[in-house]
Amino acid sequence: MTVPERPFLSVVVPVYNEEAVLPEFYKRLHAILKELRDLSGTEILFVDDGSRDDTEKILTELLRWDPSVKVLQFSRNFGHQIALTAGLDHAKGDAVVVMDADLQDPPEVIPRLLDKWRDGYEVVYAVRESREADPWFKRITARLFYGLMRRIGNIDLPMDTGDFRLLDRKVVVAFRSLGERHRFIRGLTLWVGFRQTGVFYPRAERPAGTTKYPLGKMVKLAWDGVTSFSFAPLRVAIYLGLVVSVLSFLFGAFVIFGRFFFGQTELLGFPTHGWGSLMVAVLFLAGVQLIVLGMMGEYLGRTYDEVKRRPLYILRRKIGFDERDQSNES
Ligand code: UDP
Ligand code: MG
Repeated sequence: MTVPERPFLSVVVPVYNEEAVLPEFYKRLHAILKELRDLSGTEILFVDDGSRDDTEKILTELLRWDPSVKVLQFSRNFGHQIALTAGLDHAKGDAVVVMDADLQDPPEVIPRLLDKWRDGYEVVYAVRESREADPWFKRITARLFYGLMRRIGNIDLPMDTGDFRLLDRKVVVAFRSLGERHRFIRGLTLWVGFRQTGVFYPRAERPAGTTKYPLGKMVKLAWDGVTSFSFAPLRVAIYLGLVVSVLSFLFGAFVIFGRFFFGQTELLGFPTHGWGSLMVAVLFLAGVQLIVLGMMGEYLGRTYDEVKRRPLYILRRKIGFDERDQSNES
């Protein structure tokens, strides 16, 4: 295994309007990093995802008195997954830890991630022991989502993992070669392969501030996960088509059978009646077709988005980096 004698550790932290927890987060993270032995150094790389509150002011303050702090500032809000990507693009560590700023990913877990890394694992993800700290709605939807992904996704996503994880430099380099825009990072870090393992931790409650993942963003992330790793929704058309065809065939047989054996079709409500059943059939089929079309549109839209090849993010500025660090800019 190739863990250096005295490795360098990067911690990547996306922040979006986190003025309420940022000082506390930094304090706790700093305390943990200070205790770590056998490292050649650490960096804390904050990615300011277009915050509009005092996050920038707090980061400037941290930059002033901690030389290991670095900041990438986006020109606007690009979203959590893109902020993580920018952090991974710029992190120079032999190991890179990715975590949220809201203390739901406790910094105290980092030494355990490092232990596993030293044991030879290249991806060490943190698994939530319990979701007691999450509201019931989040618990149920998360369970449904992970269940669905395990069924239809072509990756085996471990249950109850977030993006909190440690990545070996090799994994980070592999990750940088992925160009897709709609990214589902916990899936992609699995997809790249390597030796992976998990450590359990109790998920804490957010001590201050509110979630930056409202329902809309959560649904988008889930949908990105599904579409990135599964064609199952596209195949729905085939299954629905088959079911409808079989049903219509049976119904046709029923109509012919009625005609021959009873010599009339009044039995079925034809031809003067039957407006209701006809409308139901028409509307049902129109609905199914629109849903399937919409699903195809989703994939088509994503394909279009990828084809445009716009940069994933735009930086307003980079603060605290050495000249030497600029090499892996994307
Ligand atoms: N975040 C971000 N950009 C966004 C939304 C969130 O950088 O558009 C950051 C946020 O500051 C936090 C992390 O992503 O550090 C996770 O967000 P949050 O804790 O609000 O999500 P939850 O834990 O509620 O799912
Ligand atoms: Mg959180």
